[in-house]
Amino acid sequence: MARPYNFSAGPAAMPEAVLRQAAAEMLDWHGCGMGVMEMSHRGKHFGAILQQARDDLRTLLAVPENFHILFSQGGALAHNAIVPLNLAGRHPARAMDFVVTGGWSDKSAKEARRYGDVHIAASSAEQGYTTIPDPTSWQLRERPAYVHLCGNETIHGVEFHTLPDLAALGCEAPLVIDFSSHVLSRPIDWSRVGLAFGGAQKNIGPAGLTIVIVREDLLGHALPHCPSVFDYRVLAEQDSMANTPPTWGIYVAGLVFQWALAQREGDAQGLAALELRAQRRAQLLYDAIDGSQLYVNLVHPAHRSRMNVPFFLRGDDGEPLRDPNHPRNAAFLRGAEARGLLQLRGHKSVGGMRASLYNAMPLDGVQALVDYMREFERQA
Ligand SMILES: *Cc1c(COP(=O)(O)O)cnc(C)c1O
Repeated sequence: MARPYNFSAGPAAMPEAVLRQAAAEMLDWHGCGMGVMEMSHRGKHFGAILQQARDDLRTLLAVPENFHILFSQGGALAHNAIVPLNLAGRHPARAMDFVVTGGWSDKSAKEARRYGDVHIAASSAEQGYTTIPDPTSWQLRERPAYVHLCGNETIHGVEFHTLPDLAALGCEAPLVIDFSSHVLSRPIDWSRVGLAFGGAQKNIGPAGLTIVIVREDLLGHALPHCPSVFDYRVLAEQDSMANTPPTWGIYVAGLVFQWALAQREGDAQGLAALELRAQRRAQLLYDAIDGSQLYVNLVHPAHRSRMNVPFFLRGDDGEPLRDPNHPRNAAFLRGAEARGLLQLRGHKSVGGMRASLYNAMPLDGVQALVDYMREFERQA
């Protein structure tokens, strides 16, 4: 029986092959007589799992040797505090600059205020988070501890398709990116990034694993009250084992990395294949929205997310219907669910609909959504 198509923003759909492999290995991993959840994190079996996962992620994202890959916990929101606890000390006044392009970077800036002097270098709040301010207009300070941005705003559907070159903008600081919801959908230009972090539960694996990739020279500045298990230098020195790591999450993420490395689209393999698919999925849905009278996406076309597509049905007056309980929205969601198109309700702060198109979503799933949207429009 075919599974429904799951458009959840996170935790989100997983590749079916990975779920099947995890199920098959649940009671006995590779003949050792134990499931992964039952193993000591210090034993040789788990040691091999962790090392393979880290090596595969390094290969997939072409992470240079002078960056550490850390497996942590706490989710991206805990790291909204843990990043400043680790990096703010690089500046005597703990100066940190933020670019706010949606709900997640807004949350990051607010959390960081508890740890230092936060300056909002640019914000699209006045545009309702439907765009990204041109980097040449950002009011960056010369030498803050770091500059933070969110690569893909999961709620507002806004994505950086190129990362800024801070040095060219006159700012001597490492760039910190929250890549929670688009990691593994595109390459990362590490020459422009000092630290990347994100929760696994959007495009990688189970909730509970948080990935941090940090350049070696940024370690060693933690504030005195930073918990030692969240001091990135300690994590790097202890091989992500300052305490018990999220072993199940690391194992399943590792299965996803192997799945990702094996994916092919024509000549493209691994991350390149995943990126090609992400482009195709997004284009199919945005074309359907733009070509319709009923549906609308309000994000500036140059900054639309490939991963999270918020859209609205229009009311009889042509205005977007934000209220999820409006009868037209309710009917749309009911019909979608009846066709096996799940979790399309928009985030409560935006309303309307949201389709999240992560790596595990096949193009057929987007086609099924588009077919349903056209059918619904004909009947509306
Ligand atoms: C989901 C999400 C978060 C929050 O992650 P948690 O793991 O729930 O803390 C932060 N940033 C972005 C971009 C997200 O998509």
